[in-house]
Amino acid sequence: MGASSATLQDRIRAAGVVGAGGAGFPTHVKAGARAEFVIANGAECEPLLHKDFELMVHAPERVVAGLRLLMQATGARQGILGVKAKNAGAIAALTAALDDDDVRIHTLGDFYPSGDEYILVYEATGRLIPPQGIPLDVGVVVNNVETLYNIAAAAEGRPVTGTWITVAGAVARPVTFVAPVGLSYREAIDLAGGATTRDCAVFVGGIMMGSLADDLDAPLTKTCAGLIVLPAVHELVRRVRQPEPAMHRIGRSACDQCSLCTELCPRYTLGYEVEPHRVMRSLSFTPKGGAMWNQFAALCCACGLCTLYACPEALYPKEACDRAKQDLKAQEIRWSGRREVEPHPMYEYRRTPLAQLIRRLGIAEYDRPAPFATVDIRPRRVVLPLQQNLGVPAEPVVAPGDRVAAGQPVAEIPAGALGARLHASIGGIVREADGRIVIESE
Ligand code: SF4
Ligand code: SF4
Repeated sequence: MGASSATLQDRIRAAGVVGAGGAGFPTHVKAGARAEFVIANGAECEPLLHKDFELMVHAPERVVAGLRLLMQATGARQGILGVKAKNAGAIAALTAALDDDDVRIHTLGDFYPSGDEYILVYEATGRLIPPQGIPLDVGVVVNNVETLYNIAAAAEGRPVTGTWITVAGAVARPVTFVAPVGLSYREAIDLAGGATTRDCAVFVGGIMMGSLADDLDAPLTKTCAGLIVLPAVHELVRRVRQPEPAMHRIGRSACDQCSLCTELCPRYTLGYEVEPHRVMRSLSFTPKGGAMWNQFAALCCACGLCTLYACPEALYPKEACDRAKQDLKAQEIRWSGRREVEPHPMYEYRRTPLAQLIRRLGIAEYDRPAPFATVDIRPRRVVLPLQQNLGVPAEPVVAPGDRVAAGQPVAEIPAGALGARLHASIGGIVREADGRIVIESE
């Protein structure tokens, strides 16, 4: 625990730690910042996922240790653990692991998306991140609780070789466990007793912000929070599989500009200029003609609420925002919206309760606990994509035929680039080292 900031940053870098809660931002960069607050994001608002809850219950001292290390490294005066009030087990475990008052627990309501950084920072500190800004702009560093767990391990010289995941939905036994990075989705689902439906579809990373898997032999990465299995005929699967041109075509003709998507947008109610109903207007124009409306998508966090919850016509405003952001980027148009941020008077009353979202999504029958299990997983083969982080892909430092031990570095950050080191998650023989690393156990 007594690592100096430079040493901790080096150790985090050497251990290949990346943000476990989303895009995989390399954590050593955050450890080099100066901040007032470090927030542990334990909000876990994606329906059916429970891995952060289970991690806080089963390894609270590791989460707190990682938080304290990051506080030391960044010079932060206070650590805040953001946890939902309903997760009493996690709160009790974390409380027992706290021994000083420079770390406090901030309890959150059970709404979606309470884990969005802009919302979490506001809820926990009362500070509003400036439009297009990051938490550091208001003196805050935010890390997912699993990232903090990995920081604690990194300080002891242990690299990231596993990922906490929940496997839930239409499976025999919803479960949370630590999987070796590179394990296939198929093997992970088998560890939950297998799918209970013959034709299934798998959401990777969550229903709201994840994606549908097109290959069950694809590997789990450091940033994957879980797999949600649904029957292939489920309405959610049908909606997500809709080709993008069809989503926009139907939006063009059927959107009646009721603006419910905007009224329930969490970024809009927090005070940002995100207005998906206006973005829907851009669907009737060329990218140039729609540029004015596209601006209203720039601060969207892609939470999916407008598409999967708010729109009474089952249209696709979130996807219209995705497209709008791409168009703005392609045309190199800078955001020029309102910079002042003031929460909407209805902010507190327009939150979306998770239970209501789960009912609307038609997944209430799958809303079950996914208890942690210690599983002895010995995969015959793991596949390690070279890009599991924001920035550039790692460069292999092993070749086919090499024998590697679990925890050994197999790919490095290119010189001077933003990236993350990659380690073997099992011992064995390297079979591929081009585009990805494939290791087979002996
Ligand atoms: S909620 Fe649906 S119909 Fe209403 S403005 Fe938004 S996209 Fe259009
Ligand atoms: S996805 Fe929709 S609801 Fe979510 S932030 Fe973007 S516009 Fe708002």
